[in-house]
Amino acid sequence: MLYFDTHAHYDWKEFDEDRSELFNKFKESLCGIVNIGINIESAKKVKEYSNEYQYMYYSIGIHPMEVEKEISLSQIEKIFEDELKNKDSKLVAIGETGLDYHFNYPVELQKKYFIEQIRLANKYELPIIIHSRESQEDVEKILRENVVKKAGIMHCYSGTPEMSKKFVEMGYYLGVGGPVTRYKDVQETVRITPIDRIVIETDSPVLPPEPFEKHSRNNSLYLNYIVEKIAEIKGLSVEEVIENTTRNAYKVYGIDI
Ligand SMILES: [Zn+2]
Repeated sequence: MLYFDTHAHYDWKEFDEDRSELFNKFKESLCGIVNIGINIESAKKVKEYSNEYQYMYYSIGIHPMEVEKEISLSQIEKIFEDELKNKDSKLVAIGETGLDYHFNYPVELQKKYFIEQIRLANKYELPIIIHSRESQEDVEKILRENVVKKAGIMHCYSGTPEMSKKFVEMGYYLGVGGPVTRYKDVQETVRITPIDRIVIETDSPVLPPEPFEKHSRNNSLYLNYIVEKIAEIKGLSVEEVIENTTRNAYKVYGIDI
């Protein structure tokens, strides 16, 4: 079975030099990549890739670090409206959205956009991709007060192992990427999470796994390092990890194979 990268940003400028070269290489080892549009402009590009490459899918949302750009939610809603009329649409989720407290983006505005995107997820019956950094408690609170019909992915999960159990209980999958090769807490989270609730992701171009340098460019060809680490932690074979995580990815994104 082939790898499924549940979260990447191939529209970013880091890939301007060799994007199509990479996309052609990916066909050999990947059966799916979901590109995450983080604003309107980004949404247009990720949609284009999904038209050109069979294994590319996409998601659209307003990233918590984009909220000050005053993107109107009706614009986003219009895209969903138009896109989802098409039966063959490869728009598979809403997001990424959530809360990022690492930098000083206005918290109330982040919350507003997050809750509004939950409403859209429920309206269009799509799963939601959640970005949460140093904000676990507030994310949990919002998700309990605003229940998502189709829970999605806690992308690049970086909270405590304790908290991860709550999200899994609420129906979420945990996105595991490069940080699993570096951080004990993430490794412990993987250890206690059932394999049928784990999906893999690169978050390319950021967060490369070891042995690559922390701030070097990531890409989906590095998924094997993530899978090997998960296999080691869980005492599974590499094949088993690939099979499970790919199956989970199809399931959470509602892609029929
Ligand atoms: Zn991302």
